[in-house]
Amino acid sequence: MLYIVPTPIGNLEDITLRALRILKEVSLVLAEDTRTSRRLLDHYGIKTPLRAFHSHNEHAVVERVVDELASGATLALISDAGTPGISDPGFLLARACHRRGVRVECLPGPTAFVPALVASGLPCDTFHFEGFLPHKKGRQTRLKYLAALPHTFVLYESPFRLVKCLEELIVVCGAERQACVARELSKLFEEVKTTSLASLLEHFTKKDVKGEIVLVVAPPE
Ligand code: SAM
Repeated sequence: MLYIVPTPIGNLEDITLRALRILKEVSLVLAEDTRTSRRLLDHYGIKTPLRAFHSHNEHAVVERVVDELASGATLALISDAGTPGISDPGFLLARACHRRGVRVECLPGPTAFVPALVASGLPCDTFHFEGFLPHKKGRQTRLKYLAALPHTFVLYESPFRLVKCLEELIVVCGAERQACVARELSKLFEEVKTTSLASLLEHFTKKDVKGEIVLVVAPPE
C-alpha cells in the first residue's frame, strides 16, 4: 500500500507519532528532494532509504512505482514540506494507485493553508483553495473568477510576487476587501496580518518581503 505522509512546514515538532512510525516501517520513502528529506529523516533518527519522486520525473516513474506497490511493497510519499498533493506531487500517484487497486492512505498532518485560513479570522465555513496562480497565461481570468466567488479563497504566493499580487487583487476585488497575509507559519518570524488589501499593500511595500506566504481573501461584503 501507499502512505501519503505530511511533514512539517517549518516547526520540526509538527509531525505525528504515526507519521514517524510509518516512515520507519516502510521499505522506501519517495521524496521530492532527497537531500532535504534526508535531513528531515536524520533529525528523527529514521534510516529508511529515499528515492526521488518529483514534478520532473513523476510522469516517467509513476507506473513503475505502482508496479512495486501492486506486487506487495509498502511505500511512503512525502514532499519537501506539508501534505503531498497540495501544490506538490501526489495526485498522479494516488490516481494511478486507485486505478490499479492499490490501497492509499493519507495521514492527517501539516499543510500551510489550514492554519492560515483559520488564523486569518476570515470566514472559513466554506472556502476555495486555489494554490499558486499561473504566472502569465490565464492569470487575469483566474483573478477575476476568484474575486467574484461568494466565499473566502486561499492562494499560495512567493515573497517576490506578493506586492504585485496584492496590486492585482486590489484591481479585481477593490482596495477595501479584507484579506490576510500569513507568513512563515510555525516558524520563528511567523506573521499573520488581516486587514484591507490596501493596508496590506502599504505594509508589505515598506519592507523587504521574505519567507513563505499564504494569502487569504474574504468574500465581497
Ligand atoms: N504541500 C504544501 C502544503 O501542504 O501546504 C505546499 C507546498 S507549495 C510547493 C509551497 C508553498 O506553500 C509556499 O510557497 C507557501 O505559499 C506555502 N507555505 C509552505 N510553508 C509555509 C509556511 N511555513 N508559512 C506560510 N506559507 C507556507
